[in-house]
Amino acid sequence: RELPGDPESGPRLRQVHGAAWSRVSPTPVAAPRLLAHSREMAAALGFADSDVRSSQFARVFAGNALLEGMDPFASNYGGHQFGQWAGQLGDGRAISLGETIGADGARWELQLKGAGPTPYSRRADGRAVLRSSIREFLCSEAMHHLGVPTTRALSLVGTGEAVERDMFYDGRPRDEPGAVVCRVSPSFIRFGSFELPASRGDTALLRRLADFTLRRDFPHLRGSGESLYGDWFGEVCERTALLVAHWMRVGFVHGVLNTDNMSILGLTIDYGPYGWIDNHDPDWTPNTTDAHGRRYRFGWQPRVAHWNLSRLAQALAPLFGDAAPLQAGLDRYGAAFVAADRDNVARKFGLAECREGDPALAAQLYELLHAAEADMTIFFRALADLDADEPALGPLRDAFYDQAKLRTHETAFLDWLARYAARLHDDAFTPAQRRARMNAANPCYVPRNWLAQRAIDRAHEGDLEGVNELLEVMRRPYEEQPGREDFAARRPDWARDRAGCSMLSCSS
Ligand code: AMP
Ligand code: MG
Ligand code: MG
Repeated sequence: RELPGDPESGPRLRQVHGAAWSRVSPTPVAAPRLLAHSREMAAALGFADSDVRSSQFARVFAGNALLEGMDPFASNYGGHQFGQWAGQLGDGRAISLGETIGADGARWELQLKGAGPTPYSRRADGRAVLRSSIREFLCSEAMHHLGVPTTRALSLVGTGEAVERDMFYDGRPRDEPGAVVCRVSPSFIRFGSFELPASRGDTALLRRLADFTLRRDFPHLRGSGESLYGDWFGEVCERTALLVAHWMRVGFVHGVLNTDNMSILGLTIDYGPYGWIDNHDPDWTPNTTDAHGRRYRFGWQPRVAHWNLSRLAQALAPLFGDAAPLQAGLDRYGAAFVAADRDNVARKFGLAECREGDPALAAQLYELLHAAEADMTIFFRALADLDADEPALGPLRDAFYDQAKLRTHETAFLDWLARYAARLHDDAFTPAQRRARMNAANPCYVPRNWLAQRAIDRAHEGDLEGVNELLEVMRRPYEEQPGREDFAARRPDWARDRAGCSMLSCSS
């Protein structure tokens, strides 16, 4: 079904009470063109190659037409932004098309991001620019291949229309090409979906949403009443702990961990001003909007997730007679994170098991990497090749951005390597086992900001090959790919302070 392109008849902006969503149609765009797609996601949903190539596909995933059975809507939710309650937010530029059972037998919700205004758009336009759409598309699929729980992306479609943005380069408004990403997930329900009805004292809606979520997204949980709600909250806490531990393992910084960007399924959701750790720095955030307080810095993600879970607990409190099950869930977060963190140590350092002194040994290395400005990804990859009989810096030297800093800390590194080698001699793994374990946990390739920016620069010239190439590399992030060495290289000097490469704003 074709959608009418009447720009005058947009949705009425409003506070939506007593409902978790609003029916709304995407606003058609001038010239839909498929720019990239994920072949894994297309296959999972049951699209053949010929379907993907059809003009119909680009029209549907630009928001110009609906397939039979699609009944689009935008979700209502609130959230705590940077620690403050922000009231109703909702899907201001995301429109769900509905759910489908894929060829893989799984249930997937399809959602267009950037498909025009909704009742929740507030003062904004409901659109997304090409650069941020490329970043969301690439990173969603990269995260999946990295083994990190995430929402997925099916397609990236150019709209043929310009979008005006003003915060990015020099504060002056300018036109940028627009795009629509089709995101895919079993659920897009957020912590903020529960916080909004709770904040309005609408316990009936809160309970309906909780029961719906339990039935649809947590069907394995049995029982009823408070004990069921308690089990559910505990599982959300545990999933969130595992999620954050994955982020810490691969060096991902979400950048905007507001409670409206926290998935009830423990998935990475809402790729905005996210970033990847180059030189190891727990205090780094890519988000310029957060440059002052740096609430969402890399090293604070575990505690921020706990704070966010506390806000969810507060929202769910009306479903409980007393707070004990909620406190038990939060405790489960702590225990699950500690266990996952220990597992990270064993995997990243190639140990058969994480023993008493190992987390401290790991922490000492992280401090050294920070002090010497060494690249986290390159260092761990090279560490897998260490000869425990003759520990030396050797290929680890490639990980350093500043050779002077390496010289300053060289003795400390050699000392640490000697202690690590001694620990390896006392481990059950053979060198081959250790190397295999490390290379399965420490990616060779991550979609670093400068790599994404390089692809974006080419896309702005009309060349989508950069996007497809990076997507291709990210399909096998743990395997060294001959000829792709530059994708595993240190951040080049040109990228250090360039907007888009290390710093991003929320405006996208
Ligand atoms: P974010 O910081 O990306 O999580 O967005 C916070 C809120 O702003 C969400 O409710 C978004 O839907 C909304 N939002 C962000 N960008 C736009 C836009 N261009 N148009 C409408 N709403 C937007
Ligand atoms: Mg968001
Ligand atoms: Mg966003």
